[in-house]
Amino acid sequence: MEIFDVAIVGAGPAGSTCAAFCAAAELRTVLLEREKFPREKVCGDCLNPACWPALRRLGIADRVRSLPHGRLDSVEFIAIGGQKVIVELPSGEESEIAIKRSLFDNLLLNRARELGAEVHEESIVTALTRGGSRNWTPKAFANWKVDAVAQTFAAQFLVGAYGRNSTVARLCNLLPRPERERVALQAHIALPRGFGNRVVLQFLPEGYSGQAPVNDRDLNLCLVGKPSSMSVLRAWAEKQFNLPTDQAWHTITPLTRAPVSPAHDNVFFIGDAARVVEPFTGEGIYYALRSGELAANAIVKIIRGQDRQSALREFARVHAAMYCGRLWINRLARAAVLSPRLGSFFVHAARIDSSILKLLTAKTVRPL
Ligand SMILES: Cc1cc2nc3c(=O)[nH]c(=O)nc-3n(C[C@H](O)[C@H](O)[C@H](O)COP(=O)(O)OP(=O)(O)OC[C@H]3O[C@@H](n4cnc5c(N)ncnc54)[C@H](O)[C@@H]3O)c2cc1C
Repeated sequence: MEIFDVAIVGAGPAGSTCAAFCAAAELRTVLLEREKFPREKVCGDCLNPACWPALRRLGIADRVRSLPHGRLDSVEFIAIGGQKVIVELPSGEESEIAIKRSLFDNLLLNRARELGAEVHEESIVTALTRGGSRNWTPKAFANWKVDAVAQTFAAQFLVGAYGRNSTVARLCNLLPRPERERVALQAHIALPRGFGNRVVLQFLPEGYSGQAPVNDRDLNLCLVGKPSSMSVLRAWAEKQFNLPTDQAWHTITPLTRAPVSPAHDNVFFIGDAARVVEPFTGEGIYYALRSGELAANAIVKIIRGQDRQSALREFARVHAAMYCGRLWINRLARAAVLSPRLGSFFVHAARIDSSILKLLTAKTVRPL
């Protein structure tokens, strides 16, 4: 069995970024992904401007820009009664865009491959065994045995980048208890004529809807609500956007769960696997990219001989700092979407004085 320096489970933005940086530092890197790419993923498809520095360091910022995408000049908040407030978004080369996850994630995966990571798609990881456990006799310095459907891998470091929900995490008791309070549905539908370069965040009595153009033909449509409200939300979307009743939707749950500590001796958790944030503010991809990069830096340092505990402490510090000053806005957004009437109240208040909503938007959608 070949022994890798690092095995990464999940090739979303977090896993592919971590794999790309590990491979670029000449670590023997294996990236295991359940799906065959390109694949869609339940997401609003909005790329926060904070993502651009990591994309530049990955050497793919221009490639991202050359993929079909939607430019986002403004965000339109709509209250339950239909009243609107429009807030301008930053402009320029590194502004917010919307891009299909099938294209974006595939580009990241290919970048990891290009830099030397060994990529196995359609390779669902079914079990993880830590060195020292009774059934696993570690060869050389391999600390982890990673069982995928057709193959077994051994690695010194394991990175959990499997997103918000993973059978393997649950099997290994690594997943905190999810809060099954809400579900999200997502589809790409025909872009309504004259939709414009805006992202819409619309409060509805049963939840909310996010809408963003991902190119000049398609609109990303998300619906978020309690499981019992989803049929009402779907009926609203069918009427609003003239959708067929058999419209195909992707679905995901939970929308919230407790964070896990992102670093232990030889295992790291990154992206949604470490911390799930409220999707309303569209920041999850940024946290995934950045935490993937930070974990790769820490692993490279340890493998090159830096003291393990100080590298882990430093990783934990910068990982926490990444959320600093952003998390409270995300929590406020969560309160607003858990109670759409409260969210609508904010929109009404912003119609009288929009400065607070502008400030919150500017703090969330900002270049680093
Ligand atoms: C409704 C909604 C809207 C959102 N909108 C936005 C937005 O507009 N902007 C934004 O920045 N963020 C948004 N997010 C959040 C964003 O989607 C996530 O934060 C981001 O995808 C996290 O990336 P990740 O790499 O951690 O995980 P993921 O993107 O979930 O990738 C995890 C990967 O791991 C694979 N995997 C899982 N289990 C296994 C296994 N056992 N073996 C092998 N592979 C496995 C999966 O197939 C998947 O490819 C939204 C989320 C939701 C729910």
